[in-house]
Amino acid sequence: MSGRMTQLLNELRVLFFQRISNVDNDMYSTAFIQDVLLITKELLRMEEVAYFKYDDWTQQFYMEATTGAFQKSVLAASDTLITQWNRSENEGYIVPDQLFMEIEGFQAFISLHVDHQMVGLVGFKEKTSSAFSYLQEDWLIFSKEFATIMETVLCIAKTKHKEQRYKQLYRVTEQFHSSMNMTAVLGEVISTLQNVYPTFDYYLFLSQDSYGHGNLPVKELDYNSENVAAMQAYLTGKLQFEDDYTDRHSILYAPLLGKQGVYGVLQIIAPNSLLFPPSELDFITLLANTAGSAIENAQLYQQSKRLVADLQLINETSHYLNSNTCLNDTIRFMKRQIIQSFQANQSGFVLLSDDGALQLLSESSSFFETEDAQVYLSFLKRKIEEEKESQFISDVTVYIEEVDLEYRSLMAVPMMENSILRGFVVVLHKEPYFFSFDMFKLFQSLIHHSSIAMMNSILREELEKMVITDHLTQLHSRSYLDRQMCESMIADDQGTFILIDIDNFKKVNDTYGHQVGDEVLIQVAKVIQRNIRDTDIGARWGGEELAVYLPKVDLHIGLRIAERIKDKVAEQTNPNITISCGVSYWSKERCNNVKELFKRADEALYIAKNTGKNKVLLQQCDC
Ligand code: GH3
Ligand code: MG
Ligand code: MG
Repeated sequence: MSGRMTQLLNELRVLFFQRISNVDNDMYSTAFIQDVLLITKELLRMEEVAYFKYDDWTQQFYMEATTGAFQKSVLAASDTLITQWNRSENEGYIVPDQLFMEIEGFQAFISLHVDHQMVGLVGFKEKTSSAFSYLQEDWLIFSKEFATIMETVLCIAKTKHKEQRYKQLYRVTEQFHSSMNMTAVLGEVISTLQNVYPTFDYYLFLSQDSYGHGNLPVKELDYNSENVAAMQAYLTGKLQFEDDYTDRHSILYAPLLGKQGVYGVLQIIAPNSLLFPPSELDFITLLANTAGSAIENAQLYQQSKRLVADLQLINETSHYLNSNTCLNDTIRFMKRQIIQSFQANQSGFVLLSDDGALQLLSESSSFFETEDAQVYLSFLKRKIEEEKESQFISDVTVYIEEVDLEYRSLMAVPMMENSILRGFVVVLHKEPYFFSFDMFKLFQSLIHHSSIAMMNSILREELEKMVITDHLTQLHSRSYLDRQMCESMIADDQGTFILIDIDNFKKVNDTYGHQVGDEVLIQVAKVIQRNIRDTDIGARWGGEELAVYLPKVDLHIGLRIAERIKDKVAEQTNPNITISCGVSYWSKERCNNVKELFKRADEALYIAKNTGKNKVLLQQCDC
């Protein structure tokens, strides 16, 4: 080996060890390469020595350092060069001439490899056309040693670069797992990528929840999408590529893969690139999978939070319904829960009577009493009677076309009692597609849990009505009349009481039988109902004796009403009968005692019976 070659190799070694012993120094710097090139140029007496870096994104060589004038030239790598290169032979360090005809003026190349992959070339330009011939076998020794030094430096640089990447991934993973917020996770993915590949464009395709992510480049992934590759990545959970050789850009679709499914697709557009190198793919895949798991965690967290809230709602509602029995209170409470939980515009509670008529419970939204609401109610009645199932309709106009509908979203749940349809609860919202399926599920379980309590309240109310109503005549019961009279004497200033007894009723029974007797009793009750107001109380006093209490009504009017009832009974009964009435009156100042009032009416009636019947008599107060 010539002295100059020995000197050159020694100088290169010194330079290398200086670099390697300096821990803080960035091994791979253009300055270092520049130094190597300069020493080599001097000692080999070359015209120019240049370093071309292989870019695996574009699959081209770019001049990165030179001892001569810097050219922006690009050296296209031929496939043959990359695939046929054989490092096992000694000559392998030197690129055969025929493979590199494109580079102007460079006569020889040394190829550099890291992990069996071509990473760069060093080109040599002779001063004189015979410069290489004097080197002879030294050239081979030199090229080996030179390549080893350069490759070690590049390998350390590559490892450092990798380490940097994984540090980034570690940091981002840590952040992901400390966040339960999907937007934060997605934002972190994008900003990490922007750090690593600043010149690329990024988009996130999300299959659900694609709104409300602020400024993030989020697109909706829908099944009709024209973006086949994105859909493919979503469905298969595998990386997809779209390489455009004419536009020289490469698009990568990385699925955001969690343990239970794919949560979206990350689109990365790399301009001026032909291919994503495998090492970069590993990094992007890891990042996308980490993001997928983080989104999954965030969603599971949100889901469990929602489930807890749902259970709380159902629990609170059941609790309330079990502790409270008044129907109006029950419905009012249900209405408030429903409007709050589902942001519904209207809520209606509808009972189905045995004859198929709809009865709206009084705490329903007033909208349901309007003409416009009838189209919804009759539609639902028909559909629920047919299907006996809950209804979740995103847009009612699909079903009801002929009229303009103010409310488009609809949910309705039937109320069943011992598998008999007793009614339904309905909620409406103006916007179509307003209620989510989760809301529907919650609505269903809320109504299922509360319908027994609601039905019980309804039954209780019916029972109470039965207690205050006489079964035969449908007039109020005696006990109800007593209560109401007591209350009126506290609240009002005056009132009139009429006691009624059918004349010669025994004879009716004897002549026509008991059944006809009952019918006559019903006829008299109907005459009474027709001739008093809703606020008056018609009651069955006992047997064939009936009574009317007229709160706030003075004696004069009271007598007129009694006369009218007496006359109408005489006109309208069949078989024809008459009645006798005993009337009494109270005012704040006088005779304000229920027992007294009864007693005087009874006395008046007694006199009426004994003085010819079919008459109204008054018994004034003694005091
Ligand atoms: P008076 O004019 O004096 O009242 O003669 P009356 O025949 O009506 O005599 P009274 O009031 O004492 O008799 C009541 C009868 O009414 C006795 C009973 O058989 C009959 N009665 C009582 N309750 C009912 C009932 O619910 N249905 C029927 N069909 N008859 C009843
Ligand atoms: Mg009687
Ligand atoms: Mg009688």
